[in-house]
Amino acid sequence: MRKVFHFDSAAESYVADAAVLCCFDHRISLATRKFLRKQGIHRPDMIVVAGGAKTLASPRNDFERDFILEQVRMSIRLHRTARVFLMSHSDCATYGGLAAFEGDGGREAAHHQDELRRGARLLQEQFPGLSVECFFVSFDGVAAVDLAVEDNEQIA
Ligand SMILES: [Zn+2]
Repeated sequence: MRKVFHFDSAAESYVADAAVLCCFDHRISLATRKFLRKQGIHRPDMIVVAGGAKTLASPRNDFERDFILEQVRMSIRLHRTARVFLMSHSDCATYGGLAAFEGDGGREAAHHQDELRRGARLLQEQFPGLSVECFFVSFDGVAAVDLAVEDNEQIA
């Protein structure tokens, strides 16, 4: 090998502030990073895949779901992660974009809220004691999903 870049990184081991499952869509990546910092998540274990929380809520197949669950398991085991942030976003291509909701942002948000809650339930079943928080990223910010209330209520 031949060194092609110099950069000094902290080498000591760490406890992850949270494992963050989010979509790889570049349009929301800056907002996501800024949001995490604002939440005090300075050392996230980022699990960045197409669809983000969809891989748990509505996976394309068992492999996809199991792979993501294994990533969460590894974050817990290797970095003593106690919190997971489940995230999805507006106009996500894996859901057919905003067009799949006829451009209705409210309907899209309601659908994502149900998806995020389903993903959270799966994580809580698989990892009792894990703290799970759900967020929907749109093009003007981030909304938190209240996991204590019933399905079909609007995102505040
Ligand atoms: Zn996406």
